Amino acid sequence: MRICESVAEMRKARVLMRQDRRVGLVPTMGALHEGHLSLVRAARAQCDSVVVSIFVNPLQFGPSEDLAKYPRPFERDRELLEREKVDILFTPSVDDMYPKNAVTYVTLEGMSEKLCGRSRPGHFRGVTTVVAKLFHIIEPELAFFGQKDAAQCAIIRRMVRDLNFPVEIVVGPIVREPDGLAMSSRNAYLSPQERKSALVLYRALGEVQKRFDQGERNTERLVETGKQVLSQEPGARVDYLETVDPDTLDPTSEIRSETLVAVAAFVGGTRLLDNILLSPK
Ligand code: AMP
Repeated sequence: MRICESVAEMRKARVLMRQDRRVGLVPTMGALHEGHLSLVRAARAQCDSVVVSIFVNPLQFGPSEDLAKYPRPFERDRELLEREKVDILFTPSVDDMYPKNAVTYVTLEGMSEKLCGRSRPGHFRGVTTVVAKLFHIIEPELAFFGQKDAAQCAIIRRMVRDLNFPVEIVVGPIVREPDGLAMSSRNAYLSPQERKSALVLYRALGEVQKRFDQGERNTERLVETGKQVLSQEPGARVDYLETVDPDTLDPTSEIRSETLVAVAAFVGGTRLLDNILLSPK
């Protein structure tokens, strides 16, 4: 596995891959777990060359968020990716990615403010800007993202369509711990007690799924069901639980087509996400 620590090195390495028909990119912030590795394996199976980026992107963190304490276990990540037979690990520095006085951003008007964008102003602008830059630097034919961040997937798909990026977006399913908790690098922040409380997100979505399977199609009642479960866990504080169109992220009132049920909640100081897709037959 070759490690490219700068944009210039990455570009040089990309030139050497010109003969490859399918270059796959898996963008990450590191602290890798099975969720990330499932995307790497999908890329390995579908592409001639696989590039994984590890970049803790300051632009997508708010001023009071966890940028400084975000885990950065580089050696462990490197070994995991080596084992998955990744071709290139791209680990640029912040100064290299964001030259002084950079003033250009990618914003999806009306979409960047939905779901996580409401409580994390600037978050999706940070995500779309860095992903657009990664697409330009690496020029992948395919890019792999996790359904765990469903709003991010919708936003990236829309950016690719609106700005004509020649990239196919592949979305991998949510990888969970054996008890159902969605894997996340931020789970490492949880104390044993918080780890137990964190399961309430999965339980709430499970209850919504159950009501839906019993025939409930009214989203207000489905949301109420989920919120009730969440309210029973004193260790958790809901940020949002919403039913939205999985492509536009617009709220839905009656489930007539595939609908995303997305939840974000704080457990202690840690903000966790989870979601399910409801599909009426
Ligand atoms: P992150 O390092 O958190 O920015 O995540 C990098 C990529 O891995 C994103 O596309 C995430 O959606 C994806 N990802 C994170 N957690 C999971 C998970 N539990 N299952 C599947 N994909 C995931």
